[in-house]
Amino acid sequence: MESLSDLRKEAIDYLDQAKSRGVPLIAFKCPCCNEELSTIQPPNDEVWDTLSTCWHCGGGFFKISTHKEVRTQIPPQLSNAKQ
Ligand SMILES: [Zn+2]
Repeated sequence: MESLSDLRKEAIDYLDQAKSRGVPLIAFKCPCCNEELSTIQPPNDEVWDTLSTCWHCGGGFFKISTHKEVRTQIPPQLSNAKQ
């Protein structure tokens, strides 16, 4: 199992690489701890939904990314049972 610091390093490396290739990023707040996170920005008219783990607090949440904004939801099964 990965530790939170490994997860944070991997996420930041991944985003740094994306940024250096000119991939657009979009910032949002973690629904668990309210820290700022960022993710790859989808092209116009695309919606990407995925399960994510916050690299600040380790909380799991569902992320819906669009070109304009990122919406987040904490699924009930994740807030009840930590995995
Ligand atoms: Zn968090």
